[in-house]
Amino acid sequence: MESWLVERGVPQSGVAAFSAQGFDSVESLVKARLGEADLRELGLEQMRLRKTVLHALGRERDAAKARRDAAKAEGAAAAAPAALGGSGGGPEAALCPPCKGTPAAAQLEEEAAERLATMTECMETILGGLGEDVAREGLVKTPHRAAQALLDLTAGYGQSVEEVVGGAVFDEEHEEMVIVRDIDIFSLCEHHMLPFYGKVHIGYVPQSKVIGLSKLARIANMYSRRLQVQERLTKQIATALDEILAPQGVAVVVEAAHMCMAMRGVCKPGSSTVTSSLRGCFLSDHRTRKEFFSMIQGRSGGGGL
Ligand SMILES: [Zn+2]
Repeated sequence: MESWLVERGVPQSGVAAFSAQGFDSVESLVKARLGEADLRELGLEQMRLRKTVLHALGRERDAAKARRDAAKAEGAAAAAPAALGGSGGGPEAALCPPCKGTPAAAQLEEEAAERLATMTECMETILGGLGEDVAREGLVKTPHRAAQALLDLTAGYGQSVEEVVGGAVFDEEHEEMVIVRDIDIFSLCEHHMLPFYGKVHIGYVPQSKVIGLSKLARIANMYSRRLQVQERLTKQIATALDEILAPQGVAVVVEAAHMCMAMRGVCKPGSSTVTSSLRGCFLSDHRTRKEFFSMIQGRSGGGGL
C-alpha cells in the first residue's frame, strides 16, 4: 500500500495520513471511494496530488471491474459446458460465488460517484484549456462544483414520465379546456450547452381523464433538464400528455431566450424564440386554437420572459 502511494507521487505526510485512516490496502482505498472532500480531509490539498490519486483510484476501479466482468464471463462459460470449447478460465472462475444480487440502489450510487469523479477530472482539463491555474484558491473546488451543477441541470435524464406523473391521472367527465400557463423552465441547448430559459404554456381538452395540475409543470421540468433544442422540448411535452391522457387535444407553447444567441454568435439579447406543438382539436378546430392562444396571451403576451 505504501509503495503504491509513493509510486504515485504521494509524499510521506500523505502516506502517513492514509495509514492513519486505516487504509492498509489499495482495495480498502478503492472501496472507500474517496472523493475530493475526503482527500482534503486527509491533508492532500495539492491539486496535482489529488488528481494523481483520483486517477489511480479510477484505474484501479476500472481494473477491478474488468476482473469482475472477466470472472463473470468465465463463470458463465463454465456453467455451460456445451459452450464453444473455451480454453478454461482460471481457477477463480470456478470458485466465483453465485451472485447475491447487489442492491440496485448501491450500484447506482457507485456509478453516480464514478461519473462525478470522471466529470470533475474533465472540468479540470477544461479549466486548464482556458489557461487557468486550476490550483488557485478560487478554482480549487470549481471542477467538482461545475460537474455537480451539470449533473443537476440534466437530472431529467434519470427520470421518466411514469415516475414523474406517479399515477396522478384521474377519471373525470370534464370536457372543457384546461390551461396551465407561465411554467418557468430552465434548459441547456444541446448545441452549445448554454442555458435557454423561459415559459411553457400547456393546454388540453380532456376526453375522460385529467391529470394533477402540478404534474404538467413536472413534465415540463423533466424534459427541460436534459440537453435540448426548444422544438423537441415542446413536442416531447405534447407527446407525453397525448400518450398519458389520450385527450381530445393538446397544445404546448414555449417562449424562451437562448444564451447562445444572447452572449455569443449573433449577440441578440432581446430576442425570444416561440415554438408550439398542437394536437387533435387544437389543430382541427380553429375556435379551440383561438381560445387557447387568447388565454395564454392574456397576461404573458409580449413580455413572456
Ligand atoms: Zn445553442
